[in-house]
Amino acid sequence: MKYLPIFLDLQHNPCLIVGGGEVARRKLRLLRQAGALVTVIAPRICDLLQSTAKTDEGITLLQQPFTTQAMDGFALVIAATNQTDVNAKVAEAARAYNIPVNIVDQPRLGNFILPSIIDRSPVQIAVSTAGTSPVLARLLRTRLESMLPANYGQLAELVARYRGKVAQLLGTVPERRRFWERELQGRVAELVFSGQAKAAEHSLQKSIDQATRQTEPTGEVYLVGAGPGDPDLLTFRALRLMQQADVVLYDRLVSPPILEMTRRDAERIYVGKERANHAVPQEQINDMLVRLAKTGKRVLRLKGGDPFMFGRGGEEIGKLAKSGISFQVVPGITAAAGCAAYAGIPLTHRDHAQSCIFVTGHLRDGSINLNWKILTQPQQTVVIYMGLSGLPQLCSQLIEHGLAQDTPAALVQQGTTSNQRVFTGNLGNLPDLVQNHSVKAPTLVIVGDVVKLHQQLSWFHAQPSQHA
Ligand code: SAH
Repeated sequence: MKYLPIFLDLQHNPCLIVGGGEVARRKLRLLRQAGALVTVIAPRICDLLQSTAKTDEGITLLQQPFTTQAMDGFALVIAATNQTDVNAKVAEAARAYNIPVNIVDQPRLGNFILPSIIDRSPVQIAVSTAGTSPVLARLLRTRLESMLPANYGQLAELVARYRGKVAQLLGTVPERRRFWERELQGRVAELVFSGQAKAAEHSLQKSIDQATRQTEPTGEVYLVGAGPGDPDLLTFRALRLMQQADVVLYDRLVSPPILEMTRRDAERIYVGKERANHAVPQEQINDMLVRLAKTGKRVLRLKGGDPFMFGRGGEEIGKLAKSGISFQVVPGITAAAGCAAYAGIPLTHRDHAQSCIFVTGHLRDGSINLNWKILTQPQQTVVIYMGLSGLPQLCSQLIEHGLAQDTPAALVQQGTTSNQRVFTGNLGNLPDLVQNHSVKAPTLVIVGDVVKLHQQLSWFHAQPSQHA
């Protein structure tokens, strides 16, 4: 993190702006909105700024060149000039006086920058790209603006008025949090957004009455697919549940940037499974889910890809169902879909494959037990999960059972992430190609004519592809 985002209380605090042009005027407006008392110093002060100052007692104009001494006593300084010598002088003086300073034209000279702001006071969102791309910040701001109803701030004000009361009536923190999450994503919020403040308040009071009469808190489990790695591939629902769960159980396949998107104060428990090395035995995971939910927690079971695809998700919720604990399942993009898309290998194609089959290549006691007859059908794509260590056996078995040695085959390493790497060849040479490179798990194997399309259709170039 290059900058620490903070929200600064500047009410009635003296601030200094160096510069008297249009940029200075914009910064002046911002500081005045934040309640600061602003002094503007510049040898020339533009007419617009002059007339603004006439109607605002919070503004003092000093029509004179900047001197170091002028800095004394201010809480914050912004240099809004395009003169590098003045900027340098302001930066140096600010450092000497230990005052936070922003140099608009040369942000690196100063020690703070101003973000793009989405203002729904008291709710505020500040966006920064650490100065790398103001355009990107603006685009992001536009998107956020369109997502947030204009009355969002009113919702926060309503909460502020009732927070104390709710805290008194609902004993525990999780209870309160759940209450607010429900209300702020439900009817109360919708009423505020559509401008029906009275009805919203009425609805909130009713909910409080109901909540206080409720007895035992009931937890639940969200079995959520986190997709193959790229956080952009999460579903909206996955994200929403990730941000409201109290505790997160995740495994090795959940990529770190995705884990970062879970609620900051949620408890995170690693129950990862590496091949043949189960960090937490499956039985124990199943029990843990039940136990945590029974304490009233909202438990997020976050799994790579799709939870029902080679993920033992069924077993985990089987236990929940038996124990009468409520749960929901959120599908995720499975590795086959993610890797195929990001490698430019369509799993089906009118000219090459009319069917597609997903299997696990996991070795049991050193051998693979699959229905080879089905896997070697023509015009079919075979996708093999967990097939890295058994790759030589897989390929030779497929050849032995009838597929040509030159049947195209690919191995996709860490698909959809910045470490994605695609190895292509055929059943005869792919194992050697893979062995000659340090391939990193997880990897997915795709076998069939569609692999030929990679050369033409690949579009995601995180790491260069490797061809046999
Ligand atoms: N439920 C998961 C699969 C779990 S089995 C899903 O739907 O994707 C684990 C296997 O999935 C790995 O051994 C690997 O074969 C595959 N896999 C998962 N993520 C992958 C990725 N980003 N790139 C390549 N293969 C991946």
